[in-house]
Amino acid sequence: MSVDLSLRALLGDSSLPQNEARILLAFVLEKHYQLPRSALLSRDDMTLHPAALDEWLDLESRRIAGEPIAYLVGIKGFHAIELQVAPGVLIPRPETELLVDIALEEIERLHGNAHILDLGTGSGSIALALAHAAPQALLIATDQSTEALAIAKLNAQKLKLADRVQFRQGDWYEALDTHEQFDVILSNPPYIRSLDPHLSQGDLRFEPSSALTDFGNGLSCLEIIISGVDPYLKAGGFIAVEHGFDQSSAVVQFMKNVGFKDIQVHLDLAGHKRSVSGRK
Ligand code: GLN
Repeated sequence: MSVDLSLRALLGDSSLPQNEARILLAFVLEKHYQLPRSALLSRDDMTLHPAALDEWLDLESRRIAGEPIAYLVGIKGFHAIELQVAPGVLIPRPETELLVDIALEEIERLHGNAHILDLGTGSGSIALALAHAAPQALLIATDQSTEALAIAKLNAQKLKLADRVQFRQGDWYEALDTHEQFDVILSNPPYIRSLDPHLSQGDLRFEPSSALTDFGNGLSCLEIIISGVDPYLKAGGFIAVEHGFDQSSAVVQFMKNVGFKDIQVHLDLAGHKRSVSGRK
């Protein structure tokens, strides 16, 4: 009896959750046959040629071993854009889209003409989603990782946003000159405390630890960013940062310590306190 290697059989026999198996098999069909995802249904009796079959088996086993889907297919959707991702950058999270929406409200208040700073940009997600949604905005995005910046720059080029987003290497404000000032400063810094068990679970095991944790109590980067913001923010300027579900009151206090007003706590879609914003 011959083994059934049709798409239908590959999906049916896979031990992965069906939605994950479909994403990975659709990726193989796109890459090797330039077929759309709908071919999973419309051509479900098709068999893969050996190179494509090998790739499917490789992706399937790596996923079973825990590698994040986004790294396996190299792409993640975020806000209204698609980003290339690789193991050198944090995989953009849906909850971070909240920070983009908070910033867009402020940019609208400024009639679109805003000078924006994104600290610790990773794949470029926040800066590029904003540049895409706010065509007059000018952005600077920093990261201490040259590997992350290479991916972020590639994303800017692919999205044709490289003329409005400038990337700089350095730790938090180190990449800036002291005379540079912004209307809006944003950051999704590493905020997971070093002993949090989540760091050794799921996708997080494969992501750069320096993008996830401060190797301390989880608050140190948030404190550095907020306590150091004054010289870089225009009078009346706006700051918003993402934080962990139980860090809201500490972050509010950091903002009070620098004398900011209009301090607001924002909830993510899961109902967790996820961001704090304030005004100079
Ligand atoms: N939100 C991410 C998570 O909990 C953490 C990213 C970060 O530390 N900024 O998985």
